[in-house]
Amino acid sequence: MSHSNGVASRQDVLRVRDLSTRFFTDEGQVNAVESVSFDVRDGEILGIVGESGSGKSVTALSLIDLVESPGRVTSGQLWYRNADLAEEFSDAADGEFVDLRALPTRVRRALRGPSFSMVFQDPMSSFNPSIPVGEQIAEAVEVQRRARANPRSTRSRTQGYGLGRYLLDSVVPTLDYTDDESHERAVELLEQVGIPDPEQRAREYPHQFSGGMLQRAMIAQALAGEPDVLIADEPTTALDVTIQAQILNLLRDIQEERDMSVLMITHDLGVIARMCDRVCVMYAGEVVERGTLEDVFDRPTHPYTEGLLGSIPDLDDPAPRLQPIEGNVPSLLDSEMGDRCYFADRCPKAMTECLQHPPEYEAEGSAEHRARCVLADHPYDEREALPPDYFEAGRPAETGPVDGGTDDDRPAEEAQQND
Ligand code: SF4
Repeated sequence: MSHSNGVASRQDVLRVRDLSTRFFTDEGQVNAVESVSFDVRDGEILGIVGESGSGKSVTALSLIDLVESPGRVTSGQLWYRNADLAEEFSDAADGEFVDLRALPTRVRRALRGPSFSMVFQDPMSSFNPSIPVGEQIAEAVEVQRRARANPRSTRSRTQGYGLGRYLLDSVVPTLDYTDDESHERAVELLEQVGIPDPEQRAREYPHQFSGGMLQRAMIAQALAGEPDVLIADEPTTALDVTIQAQILNLLRDIQEERDMSVLMITHDLGVIARMCDRVCVMYAGEVVERGTLEDVFDRPTHPYTEGLLGSIPDLDDPAPRLQPIEGNVPSLLDSEMGDRCYFADRCPKAMTECLQHPPEYEAEGSAEHRARCVLADHPYDEREALPPDYFEAGRPAETGPVDGGTDDDRPAEEAQQND
């Protein structure tokens, strides 16, 4: 765990500040991402880890404007370091940084590829089944080439692919969208991600690739625009264990070779330990703990982080029983969230003061270690502990802890009659 050496001195390429994303559903407003802040630095791998439903993937989609209706980014700033854009859009700039949310849509869209690109979870559903893989990568190269020449021309032939388009493509031969140079670059990219016989493979269709090979091809496609920040959303979840290791090694090699920044989204702390320099732990749409790898793994402060670490097997010391985190992630429905610590109903150290939403505190360790938990401010006080059944009892926060009640186990009515 020594990846983080020297990372503190690197410059930020992206500063995310108070980002909130909501989904407006028939059941009500869902707060999928709640006031999230973090920085991505030059040439580092930043990990975002959490259970399903913690908001980590929606955070990634929010960065590149891919949140679909009924969701939308409702507040916050995304400061991206880009001197040219800062000069062109000086109203949205702060020094060399420009707030992506304040830029016109066409400009933001044109940044997908050369500035930010994404490797998705499931390569099978990310490629168009009826176009050879090499052609699709060549299109990504071509889109970036055209986007550099004219920021309005950023739509590829594989975007918005539906049944109508499929039928049309079957009966009407389309003109080539890409030129020879883009094809050559696609073959080069396939070679760089370790695909054997890339010229032949470039002519093959997605169904002729294995899952691991297709994930490599998707990484090649994501690299087509030579992005500043590569977002990898659970890039190995759909793959078996040996292939997972190969893909992670590939990502690490590419990141080092290009000194690129990578945002690694995962539920797997093993992936974080192996790959990342710094970590954000997300729970219920919030970043609950962040810091260097050493901060989070060696000095976890938030009980949720401790729970995540306690629920992974230790191969060096397999004797202790795993400690699962009891309970479930909350629904994130605004009407049900309340104003307490969102982890309080699962937290073994919940105290009366946790019925107020905690701020982010500085935590022990490096200068950037933060935790959204009162335990970062002072130690646990057993006298203030909430009763274990506090949330089961369904008491509203303002009434305070449940009292001890009577010593006998009789129902209250029966006890009253007999006394
Ligand atoms: S603020 Fe309280 S309830 Fe929340 S994680 Fe910390 S100790 Fe647990």
